[in-house]
Order: sequence, then structure tokens, then C-alpha cells
Amino acid sequence: MTKRLRITLLANLLLWAGFLGCAHDYVTGKSSYNWFKLDDDVKLGKQVLGAQLQAFEKKKVPLDESGDKAMLQRLQTIVNRISKVSHLPDLPYEVHLADAPVVNAWAAPGGKIMVYSGLWDPKKGLVNQESDDEIAAVLAHEISHVTARHVTESLTKNMTIMLAGQVAASAITAGASATGGNLFGQFFSAGYNIYAPSYSRKNEHEADRIGLFYMAKAGYDPRAAVALWKRAAQKRGDATSIFASHPASGARAKDLEGYLPEALEIYQDPQKPYPEFRKLSEKGKGKAQAVKALPESRPASSTPADKPQHPVKTDF
Ligand SMILES: [Zn+2]
Repeated sequence: MTKRLRITLLANLLLWAGFLGCAHDYVTGKSSYNWFKLDDDVKLGKQVLGAQLQAFEKKKVPLDESGDKAMLQRLQTIVNRISKVSHLPDLPYEVHLADAPVVNAWAAPGGKIMVYSGLWDPKKGLVNQESDDEIAAVLAHEISHVTARHVTESLTKNMTIMLAGQVAASAITAGASATGGNLFGQFFSAGYNIYAPSYSRKNEHEADRIGLFYMAKAGYDPRAAVALWKRAAQKRGDATSIFASHPASGARAKDLEGYLPEALEIYQDPQKPYPEFRKLSEKGKGKAQAVKALPESRPASSTPADKPQHPVKTDF
């Protein structure tokens, strides 16, 4: 292939990718850049959840029906209530509970949610097991990652960077879905047989804000989210825990506190419509930049957008 032909081909691919990439953001209404269809989110989510469940079955970790059934039912009720008031209520949401000493929970794209019982461990956990509001704060945050499609949006960005580097012509012709599985390794690390996605700080803030309103509309007290993050700011855990990946928890609590009055209005009157999420993210911009300026945050230009920084950086 001549150089000229290669460049033309690459330019066409980029054009094609750009055309394909323009999608509608279900939460903000803005156009977003995502090569994956919503169906792809569901397929990818099934893959990663299946891998996690298999790893636990092999290790004989008590799961779902063979674990704490009452707790599983509570989780299912909370997920049902929150997903119903979310922007994508028709996704095949599922929540699983593993009796594992990991202080974490995550959601794969398409609505598959994993919760580890360590989340409410009395000593090292974060959440008060008796409080549906606190558990709802975690799950609403997770569901927001799903509806904002953070994983496939980030995968798209990384694939774009690969393309621009002329590395991924074959990957892209193979189709986004086919390569999605491999790229998933960038987001779900399987250390200690624990899967956990990794998100950028911007996405974490967005999930915090959306989640605050989801939980309020579903009838859970949004003040629990602020209390949770304040507590998280004072705790430290191992590399698989949510604390390791959220050194700026204090800043997150503060950011959420700013949105609390609006969220409380919806909590008191669930018929009230959501605020415009497009404006909400703009409003938070100033605060997000202030967070970036903190010493523990990474320099904005050090790596491609949204590239995970830590192999076991975990999400909550
Ligand atoms: Zn998160």
C-alpha cells in the first residue's frame, strides 16, 4: 500500500468513525462521542459480569442465592426503584452479591451490578448495612455510570487515540464490538480475582451528581450520599477498596453538598422534574477544576483522556 493510499484510508476511517461516533447522551441530551450501540453496552456488561461470577464460583465464594438472600433482595429492590426513575429504565438491570471482604461495588455497562459484602463490613467497610439510604447512594452512583455510558464512551476515546496513532486500522475494521472485549482490560482489572472498573475523575463527579438526583427521586434521602463521602474521606483501605481510588472524597462530598438543596426538593416531591443535567455538569465545572488543582490529582495532560492511572483503581 502506498503512503498516500494509507493516509487516504486512515482519513476515511477517522471520518467514518467520527460519523458513527456521534450519539445522543441519554442523560444530558448533548451529543456524545460513542462508537458503541446501547446493545453493545449490554453485551460487554454481560461478558465482564460473567467473568467475575465464574471467578468467584471457582473459588467457592458464596454468591447470590447461596449467600445472604435477604440482603440480595434488599439490593434488588433498591436497584429496581432507582433504575425505574433513571434515564434508561428499560435496560436489563441485574444486581449480584458476593460474600467477599472487598469494600467496593461496581456496575458494568448495560446495567449489570456487582456488590461485595465488605462494603458494609463493620470495621473496614463504608456503608451502614441497616441504612437503605446509604446503600442506595452507592447503587445510584453506579447506575449513573451506566446511564451516562461512561465505560463505552471512554473506550471510544481510547480507540480514537489508537486510530490517530495509525495503530488500530485493523482493530477498527474488525468492528467496535469485537475489539471491545480486549479493550475492556483497560477498565476492568482482574487482580485478586476482583473485577473493578476504572473511571476518570470527571466521570466520577458526573456519576455523583446524577446519582444524587436518581436516589432522591426513587425516595432515598440524598443527604446519605454526602454523609457517605465525608466518611470515606477519613478512611483508608487496600488497593481493591473504594478508598484507594478516591483520595479526594472530601472534595466529592463538598461538590455533592452544593447540589443537595435541589436534590432535597425532588426527594420531598418526586413528581418534580430533574434539573437540566446539561446545566448541572456546566455548573459543576468550576468545582471540578478546583479538584484538579489539588496535589493528589494527576496532571490533566499526562495521558490520553480518561486513561486509567492505576491497575486496580477501583470504582464505587
Ligand atoms: Zn464511580
